[in-house]
Amino acid sequence: MFGSTIKLIGSDLAKFGVESSFVSQTDLSAWRAAIRPNTRLLFAETPTNPLTEVCDIQALADLAHNAGALFAVDNCFATPALQRPAPMGADIIMHSGTKYLDGQGRVMAGALCASQQLITEKFLPVLKSGGMTLAPFNAWVVLKGLETLDLRMRAQTVRAHALADWLEAHPSVARVHYPGLKSHPQHELAMRQMSGLGGAVLSFDVKASGPEQARERAFHVLDSMKLLSLSTNLGDTKTLAAHPASTSHGRLTEAQRQAAGIGQGLIRVAVGLEHPQDVQKDLARGLDTF
Ligand SMILES: *Cc1c(COP(=O)(O)O)cnc(C)c1O
Repeated sequence: MFGSTIKLIGSDLAKFGVESSFVSQTDLSAWRAAIRPNTRLLFAETPTNPLTEVCDIQALADLAHNAGALFAVDNCFATPALQRPAPMGADIIMHSGTKYLDGQGRVMAGALCASQQLITEKFLPVLKSGGMTLAPFNAWVVLKGLETLDLRMRAQTVRAHALADWLEAHPSVARVHYPGLKSHPQHELAMRQMSGLGGAVLSFDVKASGPEQARERAFHVLDSMKLLSLSTNLGDTKTLAAHPASTSHGRLTEAQRQAAGIGQGLIRVAVGLEHPQDVQKDLARGLDTF
């Protein structure tokens, strides 16, 4: 999952005595085996950043509730336009408002959604003293963004799917990670959970003989771009590309990165609203030279 979330749960919360176990999000038996008598919360991200792995929300909610725990879902990638975890049993749903909710890279914001009771009893007291309060102007920008969320998500998803198809057929690409593709390991589950759409983020591995060449080639593709922006943000109407191993997941150890499946040749693309052929052409500048 998102690098900062791994750090927050694994290191920062550990200082307060909060124990955690990390499991493969797609392996239900691993989740089941990790539950202990003191388990209070299951936390999943679906689709995950940046590999777009999809976990079974309903099954994890049942697992959590049978263990007397709550289930939280990071719904950043799918957004409420494509995926609604609450009717599937999730207790807490969170969003980076910085991403698709605003939709144009203008503010930093976040949203945490839960029942009125959870919000009133657990979150409001911390929110008030902890200072996690959004400035009024930024809140207004996010609200304006929400007015077009559904239209943006659908349009950006169509473009992402076209790009995923094109990348999957490109001879310099080893593998494409995109829930909308039939080759995605959880394709059917994703289609059931995400309104039949794959979302607007994909990632792909460039073909290479080893990690060093993979990093070199990924950097070459990113350096050759003229239209796309090199940015670790996502959810913008402008297409953004990033190298997760050196940015969003750069603070992890190489062992943690390998466990997360994030290779040196991995490029993440958050597809915006440009003409699909312009985006393809921009990535082809680098990819066509190998
Ligand atoms: C970006 C991101 C976050 C964090 O969002 P911020 O707005 O930077 O706090 C959390 N989860 C996922 C999946 C993300 O992509």
